[in-house]
Amino acid sequence: MAERLIIDYSSPGRKGYSLPPLEIPEVDMGDYIKESYFRDELKLPEVSEVDVVRHYTALSELNYGVDSGIYPLGSCTMKYNPKRNEDIARIEGLSQLHPYQDEEDLQGSFEFLYELKRDLAEISGMDEMTLQPASGAHGELTGLLIIREYFEDKGIEKNKVIVPDSAHGTNPASAVMAGFDIVEIESNKDGMVDIDELKEAVDDKVAALMLTNPNTLGIFEKDIKEIADIIHDAGGLLYYDGANLNAIMGYARPGDMDFDVLHLNLHKTFSTPHGGGGPGSGTVGVKEFLRPYLPRPVLKKDDKNYYWDYDRPKSIGKVHAFYGNYGVLVKAFSYIKTLGGKGLTRTTENAVLNANYMKAKLKEEFSLPYQENSLHEFVLSGVKQKEKGASTLNMAKRLLDYGQYAPTIYFPLVVKEAMMIEPTETENIDTLNRFIETLQKISEEVENNPELVKNAPHNTSVRKLDEVKAARQPDLRW
Ligand SMILES: *Cc1c(COP(=O)(O)O)cnc(C)c1O
Repeated sequence: MAERLIIDYSSPGRKGYSLPPLEIPEVDMGDYIKESYFRDELKLPEVSEVDVVRHYTALSELNYGVDSGIYPLGSCTMKYNPKRNEDIARIEGLSQLHPYQDEEDLQGSFEFLYELKRDLAEISGMDEMTLQPASGAHGELTGLLIIREYFEDKGIEKNKVIVPDSAHGTNPASAVMAGFDIVEIESNKDGMVDIDELKEAVDDKVAALMLTNPNTLGIFEKDIKEIADIIHDAGGLLYYDGANLNAIMGYARPGDMDFDVLHLNLHKTFSTPHGGGGPGSGTVGVKEFLRPYLPRPVLKKDDKNYYWDYDRPKSIGKVHAFYGNYGVLVKAFSYIKTLGGKGLTRTTENAVLNANYMKAKLKEEFSLPYQENSLHEFVLSGVKQKEKGASTLNMAKRLLDYGQYAPTIYFPLVVKEAMMIEPTETENIDTLNRFIETLQKISEEVENNPELVKNAPHNTSVRKLDEVKAARQPDLRW
């Protein structure tokens, strides 16, 4: 399966073009330009067109993506995104617009952006949204800056943000970036926020609690009302990490759970493929009282026109040029309008059904550390297999041998040998069964031949990587 470098295909004189004979006298460049100005020989590969096509096709086949098969990375929502939305984002009238065009010419775009933010506010139960932030982490930073600005404006001193130990890693990172100190609280035995721990951690210096609900174990925080009251009573605000809305969309709204600020990852739930750092959108929603602090400008509408309101003295300022990542917003709008309310609700139902089906099929073979009902994802532990000689990492590598992608591993940190599985709503039962059977087979292999699993992968183009060296001394070019 290995693929050589394109330069290795090179053969002197081989080319990928054929030009008609020259009809004018050939020129010796040395007559015009000093020889010392000449470039060194470029050493470009001399290859034919078919060499080029086969080389790049082979490279693309070394890669794995949602278009190749199931990609059950927990917390990532690596689902299939309809190609239709890509087509719509490429419609010339949308893709060729320029943000410096006259606002009068851009009214159609403004109309859809306005409707998109209204739809997202409706879905999440918030009062106003900004479409500027470019990723989930960027949304978190934006939301926390809004919270900081709010307290500064009110003259209230706050310096702490509470983050449960099951939170996504970006949460504490964003809070530190926004200038807060982190207070970490441990989860209880059910994998939820420990109310006593929370009470102990709360004081009048707490600006916010950052929470994901369902949390990273896929479990819905049953005591959310009580949690919200504890924070609000202490004068703090509630931040909702809504990166994965396919767990609750159509059924529950963070706004109704009393959250004050949230971000949504349009590149997870709303039809932009992701992974690899491509453009995303971490739109942020707020409750009414935080509206003045939103990034500038805010899209508004009077009786005739849509327009951008820059006159926002309390705004935290801009967090992105122009409107945010416009193409991602087009895809999200297309997705929402195609599915409608009923379709979005079914998305959630299928995401939850798929995850629970898999959990039921796998919980005997692997251990299930938290018994609570889960929503769109669940976390297994590979401790039993580890005792027999193959770790979760080994099993994840073995999955690659079978041409399937591994789940998220060793996260959340509260679970030993964690495997965090999110099949997503777009996989059918045959694909789910294939994945379940593969994991069961690998577990059998651990039983009978742990070395086989321990030395995996065997069939991939590169085998075990030195992950420390790869991070410390990345060698990214030939
Ligand atoms: C993916 C994710 C994030 C971060 O989003 P990015 O767009 O990768 O910055 C934050 N929180 C949760 C729960 C996530 O799943």
